[in-house]
Amino acid sequence: MAHLLLRHREIENIKKLDVYRAHGGYEALKKVLSMAPAEVIQVVMESNLRGRGGAGFPTGLKWNFIPKVAGDKYVVVNTDESETGTFKDRELMEGNPHQVIEGTLIAAYAIGAKLTFNYMRGEYMDAAYAFEEALKECYANNLLGPNILGSEFSCDMYPHYGAGAYICGEETALLESLHGNLGQPWSKPPFPAVEGLYRKPTVVNNTETLANVPLIIQNGAEWYKSMGTPGSTGPKIVCLSGHVVKPGNYEIIMGMTYRELIYDLAGGIPGGKKVKGFLPSGGSGPVVKEEALDAPISYEGLDKFGSAMGSASVIVMDETVDMVWAAKKATHFFKHESCGKCTPCREGTFWLDKVIHKVDSGRGTANDIKVLNSVAEQIGGKCLCALGEFAKNPILSTIKHFPQDYQAKVRANG
Ligand code: SF4
Repeated sequence: MAHLLLRHREIENIKKLDVYRAHGGYEALKKVLSMAPAEVIQVVMESNLRGRGGAGFPTGLKWNFIPKVAGDKYVVVNTDESETGTFKDRELMEGNPHQVIEGTLIAAYAIGAKLTFNYMRGEYMDAAYAFEEALKECYANNLLGPNILGSEFSCDMYPHYGAGAYICGEETALLESLHGNLGQPWSKPPFPAVEGLYRKPTVVNNTETLANVPLIIQNGAEWYKSMGTPGSTGPKIVCLSGHVVKPGNYEIIMGMTYRELIYDLAGGIPGGKKVKGFLPSGGSGPVVKEEALDAPISYEGLDKFGSAMGSASVIVMDETVDMVWAAKKATHFFKHESCGKCTPCREGTFWLDKVIHKVDSGRGTANDIKVLNSVAEQIGGKCLCALGEFAKNPILSTIKHFPQDYQAKVRANG
């Protein structure tokens, strides 16, 4: 099946406006300009499009939370893409930026915003060049600025480059960073839909989420819902890395199994080795064992395995991987990225990092495993944002699924 999101893989130079338009680009925007904003929201709600950044919140519902009164409102695109093993939004922005811009404009029209920002990871220089070129083309062709395509709808769009902090992928930290402040989350409420950017109603959507919107408007909610599972509709880009023959981005229809992805599309495991486990959502989701390979890639597919699809950054680990080492790497990452605002996360990640280093280096005891469990469990449910919740997952899930790896490291020390 032809790609719906990664269209640049089939259509050369679709990042150029004339090529994008020659393949139906901006027809969805034209269509919404003759629709009432409420109708646009309704179509997106009916499609059951859910956020592709990881949380899976229904996109139309998010738009519908924005007050329907006149006043300043904003759409902010989240291209911070800081989850470990995630690189899908970068490819979208590099190869098919107009589809993201079109989706952003449709969101702005639907909620009544005249100003939009794309918060991009600062290291994504090629994505930045492609996006800025696309913006120039839009301004030169009446697709941005005043009275877009002769309508009463006016909208501006700006890129903003972050400095590479994991926490700035969290929407309130992202907004603080956009304000020019230290990127730290705020305590909700207020939610961004009520008080977001500059304390005005704001929608924050992931890049891939918005790239789906023109497809839905052009083809209808029923067409969109015909792909995927009832709870997980449409296409999804999966970022596949680790021990696979062909790592990379794969655009799939949700419902495909992890086994089909890894073996049929990505050529299996190098050297014919077995899968020991995989991280379905980068470092932030609990690791799952080989038994989860037949689960569908969907928002609900890993429920019974105690994990989640998240942003679909799948990191495969073959039978040679030491899971204590893997947990140590992920834990060190979260300790480094903790913004320090709340104590359980700031102190907890410090202690987890210290103790797992001790265990991994062979200096730990059986009691250290208990300490790891205890500290991780005490972080859970006590933090201001999801980073704290994520930080406990590598420790708890590897102790649960691979206790033998821990035992092997502490055996000699009692
Ligand atoms: Fe910062 Fe961690 Fe607290 Fe989130 S959970 S606000 S990252 S200290």
